[in-house]
Amino acid sequence: MTYKTIILRRGKEESLKRYHPWIFSGAIVRLPEMLTEGETVRVESHDGRYLATGHYQVGSISVRVLSFRDVEIDSTFWQQKISAALTLRRTLQLTRDTNPDNEMFRLVHGEGDGLPGLIVDVYGETAVIQAHSVGMHLNRSAIADAILNVPEGNITTIYYKSESTLPYKADLREKEGYLTDTTNAPNIAKENGLRFHIDWLQGQKTGFFVDQRENRLLLERYSHGRHVLNMCCYTGGFSVYALRGGAKAVCSVDSSAKAIQLTEENVALNFPEDRRHEGVVAEAFQFLRQTKHGSYDLIVLDPPAFAKRQSALHNALKGYTRLNAAALEVLPPGGILFTFSCSQAVSAMQFRLAVLTAAAQAGRSVRILHQLHQPADHPVSIYHPEGEYLKGLVLAVE
Ligand code: SAH
Repeated sequence: MTYKTIILRRGKEESLKRYHPWIFSGAIVRLPEMLTEGETVRVESHDGRYLATGHYQVGSISVRVLSFRDVEIDSTFWQQKISAALTLRRTLQLTRDTNPDNEMFRLVHGEGDGLPGLIVDVYGETAVIQAHSVGMHLNRSAIADAILNVPEGNITTIYYKSESTLPYKADLREKEGYLTDTTNAPNIAKENGLRFHIDWLQGQKTGFFVDQRENRLLLERYSHGRHVLNMCCYTGGFSVYALRGGAKAVCSVDSSAKAIQLTEENVALNFPEDRRHEGVVAEAFQFLRQTKHGSYDLIVLDPPAFAKRQSALHNALKGYTRLNAAALEVLPPGGILFTFSCSQAVSAMQFRLAVLTAAAQAGRSVRILHQLHQPADHPVSIYHPEGEYLKGLVLAVE
């Protein structure tokens, strides 16, 4: 297979020499004729040296690099990548065959696995593929085959869920649906021994937030005897762990009624007849404003990304400050706050400063007990710091 060639401007090969996997449109001299969006392209320097192979896309990121070696992007390529990704997750003991208590994990985390534009989450026998680029969309069958055939993968079912992540302007078809004949794999999967319903058909993201697995375990350790508020609970991950940790009471709040329904199902799945849990459909600020000081002594704040892009940064930081100040005002002395930001555009230091401002506004003495991150199945390529997105702080409040 010969791929069309994109030539870069003089000097624009520098970032590729540092293995950064994106090529911006401004770096390109000209595009080859008849190039279609999503095609695999070769990238060369102005003087004709091979630099990389990747997927072409219309937009500010023109090429997402798949390889810095001149290889074919064929079934062998996908098999090797998926196999390497699974080997890491088996090393981390996140797969069913290495840890019977855990059957959900992220199998492919985009650039962190050398596959920009591709997310794959595994729930038991099912893998949910989410494409963020046209190139990955066009390769979805080959990717699905690689996942189904990877040794020790034990995947029977593949659901493709890219309606909300593919560029709207690309006008693509078949952005959602099963890529296998099997469609009835169990939709309950275990995380650290707790069971969750996963709704990959209707749910947010791929159906579950697998990135909070380790932070939920930490919350469990703090929950004994506490009154827990899980704000922005989605499917109730933190709530179920808090119940297992021996919380006195757990209140789960989300502005989505569907999320509260899913949370209640997951609580019932693990703790049937347990009277300690309550689900409330409410907006975060309104709920916190109406909550009496001291009603909860352990609060989780895990809001959606306030800054989806850099231009929204200033308002996002203000939003984090406001939300954290509202939670700090509720907590009594001795209270614990688990606070998160999943905005990629907000750095760990910026988030920490936003929380510092909140602490000062609330007039509280606050100590940092833990600094939290995304787990190892969401790896960050050292050449692509943009892959780091989840950060959290566990705070002791006096
Ligand atoms: N903590 C969850 C993931 C949270 S995702 C987990 O562990 O799975 C963010 C959630 O915030 C979504 O479910 C969304 O419905 C909810 N949300 C968004 N805006 C909100 C608001 N203003 N008030 C309350 N919940 C909100």
